[in-house]
Amino acid sequence: MNDAAPNAAPQTFYLKDYKPFGYEVESVKLTFQLSPNATKVHSAIRFNPKADAEDNRFFLHGEQLSLISAKIDGTPVTARLVDGGLECDVPRTSFLWEAEVEIDPAANTALEGLYMSNGMYCTQCEAEGFRKITYYPDRPDVMSTFTVRIEGDEPVMLSNGNPTGAGEGWAEWHDPWPKPAYLFALVAGDLVNHPGSFTTKSGKDVELNIWVRPGDEGKCAFGMEALKKSMKWDEDVYGLEYDLDLFNIVAVDDFNMGAMENKGLNIFNSSCVLASPETSTDANFERIEAIIAHEYFHNWTGNRITCRDWFQLCLKEGLTVFRDAQFTADMRSEPVKRIEDVIALRARQFPEDGGPLAHPPRPEEFQEINNFYTATVYEKGAEVIGMLKRLVGDDNYYKALNLYFERHDGQACTIEDWLKVFEDATGRDLSQFKLWYSQAGTPRVKVTEDYADGTYTLTFEQSTPPTPGQPEKAPRVIPMAVGLLSPNGDEVRGTQVLELTEAKQSFTFDGLASKPVPSILREFSAPVILERETTNSERAFLLAHDTDPFNRWEAGNALAKEVRVAMVLDGAAPDAAYLDALEKLVRDDEQDPAFRALVLSPPSQSDIAQTLHERGHTPDPQTIYDAAETFTQTLAQQLETSLPRLYAATTVEGLYVPDADGAGKRALNSRILSLLTRLDGGEQAARQYASADNMTQQYAALAALMKAEKGEAQSKAFFEQWQDDRLVMDKWFALQIACAAPEATAATAKELTQHPLFSMKNPNRFRAVMGALAGNHAGFHHASGAGYQLLAENLIALDSVNPQTTARMCAAFQTWKRYDSKRQAQIQAELERILATSGLSRDTHEMVSRMLSA
Ligand SMILES: [Zn+2]
Repeated sequence: MNDAAPNAAPQTFYLKDYKPFGYEVESVKLTFQLSPNATKVHSAIRFNPKADAEDNRFFLHGEQLSLISAKIDGTPVTARLVDGGLECDVPRTSFLWEAEVEIDPAANTALEGLYMSNGMYCTQCEAEGFRKITYYPDRPDVMSTFTVRIEGDEPVMLSNGNPTGAGEGWAEWHDPWPKPAYLFALVAGDLVNHPGSFTTKSGKDVELNIWVRPGDEGKCAFGMEALKKSMKWDEDVYGLEYDLDLFNIVAVDDFNMGAMENKGLNIFNSSCVLASPETSTDANFERIEAIIAHEYFHNWTGNRITCRDWFQLCLKEGLTVFRDAQFTADMRSEPVKRIEDVIALRARQFPEDGGPLAHPPRPEEFQEINNFYTATVYEKGAEVIGMLKRLVGDDNYYKALNLYFERHDGQACTIEDWLKVFEDATGRDLSQFKLWYSQAGTPRVKVTEDYADGTYTLTFEQSTPPTPGQPEKAPRVIPMAVGLLSPNGDEVRGTQVLELTEAKQSFTFDGLASKPVPSILREFSAPVILERETTNSERAFLLAHDTDPFNRWEAGNALAKEVRVAMVLDGAAPDAAYLDALEKLVRDDEQDPAFRALVLSPPSQSDIAQTLHERGHTPDPQTIYDAAETFTQTLAQQLETSLPRLYAATTVEGLYVPDADGAGKRALNSRILSLLTRLDGGEQAARQYASADNMTQQYAALAALMKAEKGEAQSKAFFEQWQDDRLVMDKWFALQIACAAPEATAATAKELTQHPLFSMKNPNRFRAVMGALAGNHAGFHHASGAGYQLLAENLIALDSVNPQTTARMCAAFQTWKRYDSKRQAQIQAELERILATSGLSRDTHEMVSRMLSA
């Protein structure tokens, strides 16, 4: 099945065209008769015409449905099938619409609507999947209660809400909370549950279950604990309680996204819920905890208060990402979480904001909404909330949130509603702040300074480069958290938030004994690019003395970048002062191991390419790769005498516990091991591989060995040991490509696409291979163009199977204008080849067109 795009230009939808639906949906009753190739869905929906409707056209969305019959108040009617759905003449009073349709879940490889994954039925309806289940006003502002009957011979049959009855071959569910259709879910299959329970603060007992395929029961305990912690945290921090008697999570192998917050029945990509020490790394554990929290938090920010239309997607996603980041910071380490988030933002969102796919957190037009589940909507959306909280202060933030839940519970809302509660709760005018939602692009903030007679002046100039459709930008409100240090390293001014509102603005600090060293953009208080002329010695000073952990890391990171850039541009040797500073920090056992691990992690090669591009140079991926190799080798040699001691000191002994403390130590230990492996021929890594009793250490040893081209035996052994574990095999596939030398990357990836365990139908496996290819910077951008060609071929092949995943992965080409004309021509040819594919999906067509037209 395929969303075949006609040769004519696909339809574009605009925010300004929003019109409410002309009918209220009072109740929805659905009956499913499950059958892999011929599931029948009967719907009985009570519609009430709205007296004040602007538009009373009765249009129901529907795609890939076979309509068997339609009735109104029991009388057969003839519906007119039109593009994207059906129309019908209906009474101007309350009426019962009934329809029977047939669908083919087994043939549904797009994984939207009702589909099958390893013999199990499951659904994915966000954003517009429900229209592939039955005819319905499939838009988030239409909310209703749902009653569902499932008939079939599956041992477990689940839907939203609470169970209301079950017998041989059937089960019934009722969800008392009105919801939009995108939150509908159904799961049926041979599943086993890992049970748990939670008592809410008002004393209500909630039954909890994680449902998995038989054999995976042993991988649910961590997820269950994470769920309970999330429920407790949302009560403690936001005062929000769970509102049903039951909360189910189901793990599904074939899933386009990470997880989905369907009311009372969250469906998870199995990679985002199944965990065990033997099969999951520390990073997996942290991610699973965060995603379980994220989906749970949606119960209020998303489900009880939803979006009026899909242009408002960041209303639920930005806020919920912000909430899950707060949760992770509370459960683990606040500075480490902030640093990790900024690394991710710069790796994923900044390139998006600076390239042909740039769009505001609230876009104003789209062709395919699936293409807007982006880093901008999610991560920048969360940054905007963080800025708002910083500007109004913590107390006002929670006051505004309480008002939001009080005023809008049960409603489908807009960004205007959201900002209004802040204005009403604080009296603050947010009209300028709102530009963050409508303007695309990452603001550049240039800082200059002046010091005379004890007065220090900081002058900020902000500008945002043009983005597609937005040549000119107005100045935004930018909260700039600043502290000042004296030259001896003492903090002479604690953090204060300067509010930038104009294109150019100065702030003064009086009564200073000497010219201070500024620490600007503490905690990364705004998603901007700071431009300030400074020296490596000042960066080293901040790395040693800044009281703000984020800015300490940032100073080290900026220093690392400068050293790398100098190596690339001038063929310079790695800066000795920087190597000394790194050595000192790594050997300082007083410092948090997680922090040391982060400082030891080099800026990504893609990040160096972006930096060179911003400074007007054309990045050469091979030169960037060579500089990275030289730097790491030199660092390993400099640390040679300390490495064995550091390795021993950071090795975590005893029972594996996936907590922040242990994870921080293991992260540092893995960095040390990879350096050591460059010097000892892999002896220590081979010992660690042989003795590891958890995946974090096993994987770190394997990665170090493979990177040094000494891991052939271990890679074979790893495959033998884990070939039946789908999630571990994804790691095995990805690692071989990630560790390949630039000239061998495409060939390695190509060979893996021929492997019997490679599959186009499983998004995780496809991403493991093609995502790793795109993520190996020097390999993907190798001058031969083989990386581009291989990705394009595979995207073309995937498009007819799974348009949504294809379109998302096209974004690997979004930075193409950074590179030289030969590479640009190669990429352009591949993009044009994709676009010329006959029957190309609407999803992929939109993404590729946007990249080509910019
Ligand atoms: Zn979400």
